[in-house]
Amino acid sequence: MKRLAVIPLIAALMITPVAADPTTGTGQGIDGDVVVEVDADENTIYSVEVIEQNETLGIGSVAVETLPGEIVEKNSILVDDIAGATVTSMAIKEAVKEALEAAGIDPANFEVESEEEEEVEKTEETIDCDVVIVGAGGAGLTAAVRATQEGADVLVLEKMPMIGGNSLKASGGMNCAGTKFQEEAGITDSGVEEFIEDTMEGGHQLNDRDLVTTMAENSAEAVEWLASIDAPLPKVAATGGTTHKYLHSPEDGSPVGQYLIQKLGEEADRLGINIMLNTTATEILMEDGAAVGVLANDSAHDYVINAKAVILATGGFGSNFDLMTSFNPSLANAVTTNHPGATGDGIMMAEAVGAATVDMEQIQLHPTVYQETSMLVSEKMRSLGAILVNQEGKRFCNDLATRDAVSAAELEQTGGYAYIIFDQNLVDHNASAQEYINVGMAVTGDSYEELAQAMGVDADAFVETMETWNAAVAAGKDEEFGRNNGMDDDLSTAPYYAIKIAPGIHHTMGGIKINTNTEVISTEGEVIPGLYAAGETTGGVHGGNRIGGNAVCDFVVFGRIAGAEAAGYAAGAAEDAA
Ligand code: ADP
Repeated sequence: MKRLAVIPLIAALMITPVAADPTTGTGQGIDGDVVVEVDADENTIYSVEVIEQNETLGIGSVAVETLPGEIVEKNSILVDDIAGATVTSMAIKEAVKEALEAAGIDPANFEVESEEEEEVEKTEETIDCDVVIVGAGGAGLTAAVRATQEGADVLVLEKMPMIGGNSLKASGGMNCAGTKFQEEAGITDSGVEEFIEDTMEGGHQLNDRDLVTTMAENSAEAVEWLASIDAPLPKVAATGGTTHKYLHSPEDGSPVGQYLIQKLGEEADRLGINIMLNTTATEILMEDGAAVGVLANDSAHDYVINAKAVILATGGFGSNFDLMTSFNPSLANAVTTNHPGATGDGIMMAEAVGAATVDMEQIQLHPTVYQETSMLVSEKMRSLGAILVNQEGKRFCNDLATRDAVSAAELEQTGGYAYIIFDQNLVDHNASAQEYINVGMAVTGDSYEELAQAMGVDADAFVETMETWNAAVAAGKDEEFGRNNGMDDDLSTAPYYAIKIAPGIHHTMGGIKINTNTEVISTEGEVIPGLYAAGETTGGVHGGNRIGGNAVCDFVVFGRIAGAEAAGYAAGAAEDAA
């Protein structure tokens, strides 16, 4: 399990430092400085040790664990960034360079491409289990925990060096209706029916109503289940495109994705679930029309995984530009917020065994993406009170309308971009906002005029916009654009901040066709026995536009159903065989 972390450690241990005194260097990480200690001479890097860092657990921490060993092993700074942990990877490399310079060594000595790695002959291995789950994002981990709770012997395959997928990047929360947390917060007007209708409306009525109903009706139980595995989401707020407060998030305001992936990962560990990292599933094995396992591989093995049931939890295809542009050519030059593993593998594997797909052309643009690094600025920022202004310093839409509507409005502004504006009060209540500032995405000012100057927009127009907005918050009414949520706090606490943003590819709504039991449906309209799918790899739940907070609800609700259904099917298959 989690073997990747072990390899560089072993490599590092095998190398004995022989050079002069180590020197230190510093790089800018996602959350403060990354400081390394390097021991090297002109020709050889003997050791690299990260001695100070505060990087995100499960993302940046993977780079901290792996890159130093790789730099030593390859004797080169030109090692690949860890996918999904680019900022930390670059920070480590910058820090190593600085440390080399401090030792009077030219970093260029180590900026040579390492030689091609030798092809290793792969060993064939067969593994048997009850349920094999492809993908260790939110849906896969939820399904794994649930199937194990139901008594199944579970194996999870994850092609990346870390768990989490796109789910790890979810920064807002989980929409749920009729929960005890809403009750505790005094929210009595947001029920399951409203949640269904908001989701259908947000998805332009293209959604599969049965799937939406299943999601909404099971959402309260799902959030209770999370609480039962030590992952409570007690804070409740509104999100874009919803009429009521459904968005549940962690108590401390930390991003929901990191929080849930860490908690689900810990629960999987506690339950002894085997998660094979760096292991890619390539094909579903079929016998008499039923799924009976998968083929997979890593750098040293070809695996035949025999299972009684297969769950596809491979996520969407928002990093597969060939596939996306085959449905929508206009996306060719867009940035994507997706992690590099979102390539639609599950959809293609399922199609190869006769599965139907739905809504593949429905690809969502998220309106607040920092274009330089494709980093998403969470919708929660607007839920907590942030607004959008254009290059003229003016608001231009209901900032919390659905994502497709806000993205379209933004594209009509000068240059096709906008700024998201927030204040210190919001930063104090949202850990993500502080991260955006730390990585240099925001410009700042102690007054509205100063911020306008930093943004390069007309100061008078911007001051008027801010004063009008603060008055609208005080009155509880947005006369200009009819925004009716995320107005609990105004933006009057200095210093003030702005991040320049534009739309970016975010969620692929389409995917594998499933029924409400998460069974995969064939192009003939029949259930494919033994084959289940959950999460972003499926289509139908979100229709033509996904509402913020519904991806997490989707992966928890349908991940739980898939886990229970697959475990039940596997137990039945075992009984039949006996
Ligand atoms: P969801 O929200 O539906 O769980 P995520 O994107 O969070 O989706 O997770 C999907 C996970 O599946 C990612 O971690 C991704 O790397 C993994 N994955 C995708 N394709 C494969 C594959 N062929 N084999 C193993 N893992 C895969």
